[in-house]
Amino acid sequence: MRKVLIAIAALLLTIWIWNRWPQPVPDIPTGASLPQAHAPAGLRFALIKTGDAETLQAFTYAGGSLFRTARINHIAVLVEHPQGRFLFDSGLGTEAEKQFETMPFWAAPFFKFDNLHPAIGQLAAAGVAAPDRIILSHADWDHASALGDFPDAQVWVTPEEKKFVDSGEPPTVLPVQFEFPPERWHLFELSSGPYAGFKRSLDLFGDGSAVLLPLPGRTPGSAGLLLTLANGQRYFFVGDLAWNSAGINGPHRKFSIASKIVDFDADTNWRKLLQVRGLLDANPSLHIVPAHDAALQDTIGYFLKWIE
Ligand SMILES: [Zn+2]
Repeated sequence: MRKVLIAIAALLLTIWIWNRWPQPVPDIPTGASLPQAHAPAGLRFALIKTGDAETLQAFTYAGGSLFRTARINHIAVLVEHPQGRFLFDSGLGTEAEKQFETMPFWAAPFFKFDNLHPAIGQLAAAGVAAPDRIILSHADWDHASALGDFPDAQVWVTPEEKKFVDSGEPPTVLPVQFEFPPERWHLFELSSGPYAGFKRSLDLFGDGSAVLLPLPGRTPGSAGLLLTLANGQRYFFVGDLAWNSAGINGPHRKFSIASKIVDFDADTNWRKLLQVRGLLDANPSLHIVPAHDAALQDTIGYFLKWIE
């Protein structure tokens, strides 16, 4: 017992020192102004909160406190456009607890969740039809958990992300979540050309209101969704580019030990984070929404609340 306590104390001390180690001043690239969009009336989104958890702030960004907690959300974003409806990420699904049993024993304590409330049940209770496509920011277990709850929905990922899924393993990818007919996969190319400093993009409806952008790093094929509403408000859902808004605002890297364990390429992730921070500097009214930042998402509100 004494040895365990000493090991925990040593780990906490290491994290404390690590998080306080002076970092070089980051070189934030100059961002471009966002292009005009022609958002139609009727475009709206809702955050569906499917579960949550509590962790230490220090685990969400480098420099975070070891003595403060941070709340984590697991969300699906329901987007309705006159030309189509989709989920951006699926959140935790009805089988989440069973899927979680395939998590390695050492990882499970870090990823446990509470208040499971899958999107499919929330939609059914509200009489809202299930969307026919799910676009994944990336294929992590907590983003892909509910794919099985929407058996008729296409699953949209970049080709790079599909390769990552095919070779992925716990604790990031849980293969049990992808045991569905291969016809459900839809691999999308970012074929709409450059967009606000990004070399590639995909304009989903051809009006600039919903644009997918590459954010590799957390996984090779991670993507973000930039929505422009009819009232001109713009929201950039950046998946796990940062685990907390403080990461973007600082800017701060992710907590190094966790990043080393789970990020496919931590340095690329950091470069993308700085690019997004530059985009924010050039467009200060842009709302950047990391997938797990509960405090930020509380300010937006949750399904049944629509943002339009
Ligand atoms: Zn995540």
